[in-house]
Amino acid sequence: MQPERIVVKIGTSSLVTDGRLDPHKADALAASVADLTHSGLRPVLVTSGAIAQGRSVLGGGGGAGEEGLRLAAAVGQGPLFEAFRAGLARRGLTAAQFLFTPLDLCDDLHRDGLRSALDHALDRGVVPVVNENDAVQVRNNDILAALLSVLLRARLLALLTDVRGLYGSDPRTDPDARLIPEAKGMTVELERLAGSSAGGPGTGGMISKLGAVWIATLAGVTAAIADAHEPRVLSRLLGGEPVGTLVHPRDTVRDHGLEPLWRAFSAPPRGTVVCRPAARHAIEAGRPVPLPLVTRAEGAFAAGDVVDVAVDGTPPIARGRTRLGSLSLAEALSADGATVLHPSEYVSLLEAC
Ligand code: GLU
Repeated sequence: MQPERIVVKIGTSSLVTDGRLDPHKADALAASVADLTHSGLRPVLVTSGAIAQGRSVLGGGGGAGEEGLRLAAAVGQGPLFEAFRAGLARRGLTAAQFLFTPLDLCDDLHRDGLRSALDHALDRGVVPVVNENDAVQVRNNDILAALLSVLLRARLLALLTDVRGLYGSDPRTDPDARLIPEAKGMTVELERLAGSSAGGPGTGGMISKLGAVWIATLAGVTAAIADAHEPRVLSRLLGGEPVGTLVHPRDTVRDHGLEPLWRAFSAPPRGTVVCRPAARHAIEAGRPVPLPLVTRAEGAFAAGDVVDVAVDGTPPIARGRTRLGSLSLAEALSADGATVLHPSEYVSLLEAC
């Protein structure tokens, strides 16, 4: 039997001190990852921190906007990888650097090439150290790690961060806020509960983690959100100890495909496309959602935004990227035959309702 694969993702905030990559934090993580390898598992480390490290090397310079981010990432990626390479080497392991974007996972040739390179590394006990290829486009490592956990059929996606997990209410304003220790399958309800509790500066981070949990669990991979600084967090998660939040997949899992999973969960939904009941059949069968099935738009969204699809009064039955914005939708309702959501860009939530 193939050794089990574990995708471990760590965020910038858990790796830096005073805006600069902290070698002690990187070494502690390298030690935990090495422990997993030595216990017979095959970890893949997805690590952020290139932009923060690059900015500190550039003395806060590097410029504004996307170009500034790309330059900072290109400057910081070398030292970031080196910190983990050295930490793993001290423990007798070889690291291999992989840089790619979600778009590579949507392209058959790139995806197959990447999968066979990763398989080859893992089969030989080499530890893949992954980051987005930020010089191409800065996106989101939570989502990239989730897609990777699906590609590699990982046993666990561990999202290590600086909060303990998902809460049922905001822990900063509610002293009785309770950590959600475990859930079976991600649901719109859990998303609403955990998302609304994540307010403040952590919001962006937690919202993209919820997207990552959707991706992993819909595709059959267990996902965990836990505090990176909990002692022995990875081995405790794997040993079934209650640390952080663990979301298990449902018993029945569909093959949604990496591209629809990415399109549907790369950002939170900006609104809802409300449809006639017949849209349910289209989604069940994985067909396009055409304009005649749509009755109205709720919320303000643009073409290309992520939206939910719902039938009046029901929870969302799908999520994906709309080809029409809310403003043009009303106008387009008269233009027969247009596709509003294409199957390559939405995911059915029928099992998650
Ligand atoms: N890839 C970026 C970096 O290395 C971070 C993106 C993210 O935090 O998700 O800095």
